[in-house]
Amino acid sequence: MNNKSMEVLENIPLAQFTTFKIGGTAKYFFKPSSTKEFYEAILFLKNKSLPYFILGCGSNVLIGSKDFNGGVISTLNLNEIKLNDNQITCGAGVINTDLSDFAYEKSIKDFEFLYYMPGSIGGSTVMNARAFNGSMSDVIISVSGIEDGETKEWSLEDIHFGYKKSIFQERDIIITEVLFKADKGIKEEIKDKMESNKTKRLSTKQYDFPSAGCVFKNVYSTGIPTGKLVDDLGLKGQSIGDAEIYTLHGNFIINKGNATSDDVIQLINKIKQEVKTHNNIDLECEIKLLGNI
Ligand SMILES: Cc1cc2nc3c(=O)[nH]c(=O)nc-3n(C[C@H](O)[C@H](O)[C@H](O)COP(=O)(O)OP(=O)(O)OC[C@H]3O[C@@H](n4cnc5c(N)ncnc54)[C@H](O)[C@@H]3O)c2cc1C
Repeated sequence: MNNKSMEVLENIPLAQFTTFKIGGTAKYFFKPSSTKEFYEAILFLKNKSLPYFILGCGSNVLIGSKDFNGGVISTLNLNEIKLNDNQITCGAGVINTDLSDFAYEKSIKDFEFLYYMPGSIGGSTVMNARAFNGSMSDVIISVSGIEDGETKEWSLEDIHFGYKKSIFQERDIIITEVLFKADKGIKEEIKDKMESNKTKRLSTKQYDFPSAGCVFKNVYSTGIPTGKLVDDLGLKGQSIGDAEIYTLHGNFIINKGNATSDDVIQLINKIKQEVKTHNNIDLECEIKLLGNI
């Protein structure tokens, strides 16, 4: 590997790169700035027969507290946004709020839902992130990335988006770039929506403690949001170590200081068990468990 083109960082603590502030040390850490550098990072790890995972803003993950003998590839240096022919081309590492701001500057609507939502465009595409009646699948035209050592493109139909679902969760694909629609809107209306979304988010006190957002998916067939199921069972406020089921939101687990991934997993299992026993519902985790867990 040509170390001049991209630095290979070693023994990097991962907690700092997650909104949960949980995660052990990764043996190798890469911040590629181009598709070519992604290939270099993958080749480096393949040659050492080490596992790896991709990290955007780390806002929907629980990384194991134990050290990870593998590689972590951050997308955050893929941070270019361009407007061409009424389409936006966006690097996977662009921060959600930055794309929302860019769209506002250009009077482009439908990106207001991303304002103040933690995350990168790559991670949000993987998760089909959604809020305030908007979702990634509403605005995406196509996605570019790497699969099986090749650069490929997926159209909207190829991606099979569903509720918090996409093929990117099932296959070993690295998203490098996303192409979006760019429909013109009225600048003041766009700004009003962004500000209203921001106010709603901040008023729920979602950002007061480290967390990874909603831990579980909603089970829409029940008609009851998961947070309410947890609340109705009186589980809010219960804690294991420094991990606590947030008193203000039953579907959030917060880190009150030095929570470990084991603390969080024990709470996850407790919630799953209680909801199964009392409501006969099988909850599915929305957050992704990564690293040595
Ligand atoms: C306070 C708070 C509020 C939240 N509110 C919402 C909300 O309203 N709606 C919502 O949908 N979500 C919400 N979330 C969750 C989170 O913001 C989203 O899921 C976000 O889209 C995740 O993006 P990320 O870059 O942080 O992904 P990460 O957490 O870094 O990664 C998520 C998954 O995607 C993979 N991944 C990341 N980037 C790539 C890539 N380029 N290629 C391939 N795989 C990749 C990772 O390996 C991981 O499996 C919230 C989280 C927090 C902490």
